[in-house]
Amino acid sequence: MAIIGGGITGLTAAFRLQQRGIPAVLFEAADRVGGVIQTVREGGYLAECGPNTILETSPLIGELVAALGLEERRIDTSDSAENRYIVRNNRPVKLPASPLGFFASPLFSCRAKARLLAEPFIRRAPADEEESLAKFVRRRIGREFLDFAINPFVAGVYAGSPETLSVREAFPKLHALEQRYGSLILGQLLGARERKRSGSVSKQNAPKFSFDHGLATLTTALGQRLKEQIRTGQAIREITRRDNAWSLGQAEDFSAVLLALPAFRLAELQLTCDSNRVSLSELGGIQYAPVASVVLGFRREDVAHPLDGFGALNPEVEQLNSLGTIFSSSLFPGRAPLGQVLLTSYIGGLRAPQLVTKNPDEICELVMEDLRIVLGVKGEPTYRHVFVHRRAIPQYDVGFGRFKAFMNETEQRAGGLFFAGHCRDGVSLTDSIVSGRKAAEKIAHNLKMEIE
Ligand SMILES: Cc1cc2nc3c(=O)[nH]c(=O)nc-3n(C[C@H](O)[C@H](O)[C@H](O)COP(=O)(O)OP(=O)(O)OC[C@H]3O[C@@H](n4cnc5c(N)ncnc54)[C@H](O)[C@@H]3O)c2cc1C
Repeated sequence: MAIIGGGITGLTAAFRLQQRGIPAVLFEAADRVGGVIQTVREGGYLAECGPNTILETSPLIGELVAALGLEERRIDTSDSAENRYIVRNNRPVKLPASPLGFFASPLFSCRAKARLLAEPFIRRAPADEEESLAKFVRRRIGREFLDFAINPFVAGVYAGSPETLSVREAFPKLHALEQRYGSLILGQLLGARERKRSGSVSKQNAPKFSFDHGLATLTTALGQRLKEQIRTGQAIREITRRDNAWSLGQAEDFSAVLLALPAFRLAELQLTCDSNRVSLSELGGIQYAPVASVVLGFRREDVAHPLDGFGALNPEVEQLNSLGTIFSSSLFPGRAPLGQVLLTSYIGGLRAPQLVTKNPDEICELVMEDLRIVLGVKGEPTYRHVFVHRRAIPQYDVGFGRFKAFMNETEQRAGGLFFAGHCRDGVSLTDSIVSGRKAAEKIAHNLKMEIE
């Protein structure tokens, strides 16, 4: 069994197969595993170049952490992380956390609040119509929610645009709420009972966590468990199936292959099944948003804002340079030396993809301009780390279903080939972990059927 791609998806799949006694070799192009998860520790600061937190919406996450013996090293976000800020008129305004708070909040106008009350009476869209998220939100809850709630939220998760994301593909639960209950508000209330039964947790209530040494703690632990099975520095370009055996241009053959790669790398693979070329170039059509992570340290007294929350998101209509900022040292202890704070900002996305092509000094200055306005930052940073992801996050845009159908069909055509990861099963870390785990179960099941 071969796994190609050593991000969290491939690592989780390899670990699950190991637990089930199925040997797998994992091929990774880079000289380290972890993919976009990359933690840097220097000078008393801990910077995340990629993801920052895991949102525990599935019981499989806790299971993985326990199986790796990492429970003691897990750090949940502080209580204040429940506060989230949205910038309006250049000021961070707390996002209301309760229905009562919502009606008292200055974030939305009276008109927008009244519009929300009409939501249960809006008719559902036809089940076969694929809407963009923006269209869906304008129709159900109005323009102001799109601008000051959904647009910044989408920038925080996808670095993308509500105008192009598909509500059905990118936010399937939202789509299902409307289809099932005819209303998001009613669905939210009635859906709580079902979640309780299935053991899943809503995004608002899910624990958010990292580890004492950042998210790389997880990928390093997986790497250590899989030690002998990992081959780094091996970029796989050709995959060939002949007589039910798979070859990757290496000495050995494999019974099956799991592809846990970004879509733009899948599109480049030369795949041959029983002498027939199978092109994966279709998957090159999946759009990725570029993002630069800008991690900055400051003296506490140089930041006016109390930093009592998860962070602040910037709606596009505010016309700031960056997408938003996470208050990293408020979320987790030990991210900055005593008397200092650490902020992680993101810039670029589909809003302003050209910004990630600037040099690190220019990128930092653009973020500093925003931090001065929004958080009242003075002086110069005491620490900085800029990391550019040219193709960071795949966009589940309207029409994305054709890519998923293509992967399903290819799995049918090329028996023994499997796809998993962020360009198929969702863009969050939890999605990737669940995707890797489910792919491993499917492969284990198939291999068992072949033996019997
Ligand atoms: C800046 C940023 C911030 C994010 N923040 C969060 C967050 O806070 N919370 C959250 O839940 N999610 C977040 N995400 C999303 C989440 O990190 C990803 O969805 C997830 O890590 C994807 O894992 P993966 O294994 O599917 O892909 P990847 O991490 O991309 O791994 C793919 C691996 O395949 C390897 N590879 C590529 N080509 C080949 C080849 N030919 N042969 C062999 N190996 C190859 C690559 O080197 C890489 O290691 C963020 C993502 C980014 C980019």
